[in-house]
Amino acid sequence: MTTHNYSSQFLISYQQLHFNMLASRSDSQLRSLENPDKQTMRGESSKRSDKLLEIPRKKLNMRLYTEQEQKIQDLINSKSITISIIALVGIYAILIFVIVALEELMDETEFNNVSIILSWIELGILIVFILEIAVGLYAWGVMKYYKDKWLILDTLIILLSLFFVIFELADQKTSNVVKVIQAVFRFLRIFLLIRKAQTFRRLSTISTISTPAEKIVRFLSELKEVIELESMKLDIDYCIDKIGNNQLYQMGKLDEDNAEAMGWLNQSQQGKSSVRKIVTGDQQQQQKKVLANFQKLNIPKRVLEVLDKQHDDLYIDPFECDKLSGGEGLIYLMLFLFENYNLYDVFLIKPKVVRSYFEEVTKGYQDNPYHNRVHAQDVAQTCNFLLNRCKFIEIGQLDEQDIACVLIAGAIHDYGHPGLTNAFLINSKNELALTYNDQSVLEMFHPSQCFKIAWTNQKANIFENLPFQKYRRIRESIISMVLSTDMAHHASELAITNSRVAAPDFEPYGKDKQRLMDLVVHSSDVSNPTKNFEIYKQWTEKVLTEFWQQGDKERELGLPISYLCNRYTTNMAEAQLGFIDYVVKPTFSCIQGFLPAFEPYFENLDKNKAKWQELVGYYKQQLASIQTQ
Ligand SMILES: [Zn+2]
Repeated sequence: MTTHNYSSQFLISYQQLHFNMLASRSDSQLRSLENPDKQTMRGESSKRSDKLLEIPRKKLNMRLYTEQEQKIQDLINSKSITISIIALVGIYAILIFVIVALEELMDETEFNNVSIILSWIELGILIVFILEIAVGLYAWGVMKYYKDKWLILDTLIILLSLFFVIFELADQKTSNVVKVIQAVFRFLRIFLLIRKAQTFRRLSTISTISTPAEKIVRFLSELKEVIELESMKLDIDYCIDKIGNNQLYQMGKLDEDNAEAMGWLNQSQQGKSSVRKIVTGDQQQQQKKVLANFQKLNIPKRVLEVLDKQHDDLYIDPFECDKLSGGEGLIYLMLFLFENYNLYDVFLIKPKVVRSYFEEVTKGYQDNPYHNRVHAQDVAQTCNFLLNRCKFIEIGQLDEQDIACVLIAGAIHDYGHPGLTNAFLINSKNELALTYNDQSVLEMFHPSQCFKIAWTNQKANIFENLPFQKYRRIRESIISMVLSTDMAHHASELAITNSRVAAPDFEPYGKDKQRLMDLVVHSSDVSNPTKNFEIYKQWTEKVLTEFWQQGDKERELGLPISYLCNRYTTNMAEAQLGFIDYVVKPTFSCIQGFLPAFEPYFENLDKNKAKWQELVGYYKQQLASIQTQ
């Protein structure tokens, strides 16, 4: 009994050890010989890889398999063969336990008689295992087959088992020492069971559903297996890593010269619709109608005149509008645009509801230097410039519902902004960061609050009369657009949009529409540098004032001072040069890609850049004078 206890303890610890080792093996090693999907993979990929390998084969020094070898590989990896082998291992394990049990229970002569039969069965099973290895060696070659180091141990155990069985059958008068070795060794053979059981577990857990990314990764892994050039293998590893970690569209590490780009980009972290023909109709008549409707709403005449002339003009002066409208510019703009695009009919509401809603929205904007109601009005109005003047309505075949979503998203996109960045909120453990788990904190907060305004205030509920499905689509679209204003996702999202715009199956009016609507709102949010320098400069001073206020707070709280937030070191002109180069130019060149009407405005970026370049020295002097004070 003591030997039995010892044996089972040995078995348990061996199992644990082996499972740990299995766990530490790389996935590709396991995949290389155990992947049951290989059959289909090879079927799908062999044509492609053959083509791919035609030219570079010599260069890559590849070991390619013959058709026969591939067929055998597929056969070995097939589910039926694998399961048969596993079943045989199970039988083998039972056999070993029977042998050990009988040895304990029977007397020596009785056991010797039985053990001859059992040994012959064991011999038969071991021969099958040897054959399996031999076929594997033929199909993959020695180097490739034993790339999985565990197979060496596997082979060794089987060969030694074979030796012991033959030894036993040839000479039954074994010494006691040999018997002890044999007993221990039998348990070692359980190793086979564990190894094959692991294969079985993988077989049963592998899902038949896979994404294109998974297929690509598998294809690349396969390719890696047949390539012998080390540098190429490293390249493939790089590809697998980027696909597997969803980093295809992430910007690489930028060098020192591009630190500014990193600052901008990481700021927040430290079916087809109907064609719309609204504005191209009888404009004079429409103008009269709009004017008449606004007169009913008691809109100040001068505001109405400005909106009428400039509602889709990039160069409208938002500060002047705000002054003219007594701080109600956003409300009037939205009332005007709702009328212009017949959106009252889409939402089945009266203008007074829209008025109440945007009154609430306006109230929600805090008196920040930059992120305030004027910025909201400016962004909504720039969205309208892209919709109308740049013909996004026509190119994207936007219907009234889409237009409403873009305009509302622009108007609400910074609602309740505290004048602090996501980074600050996260670093200072602000309640908003805790609520939204540090993920696009403000961009989650803004739309959330704006939907709450509607549903907690019946008079201001612009969504109330929408059929539920329509409401859901509108809500989803608005949230998507506001989330797109998070600078943390700027580079990756822009890269994807660029690749979509360049794709042969690009559909601005179909599957790509929402992505473009997102970009329209995001680009409007960073559009200051596309405008008249005088207005742009005012925005710049405002945004930096807000950043510097945050920097002062960070200094006070002992938090790291965010990029651009240090009033003693930030050169306003240099900061804008970086902003234009790394954020605004790439964004609007993408816009230009699908809205060619933007082209004449694009040159404003260079004109404004030249103006900031002239001012770099001036701001340097300013900084120097502050530092000496
Ligand atoms: Zn904004």
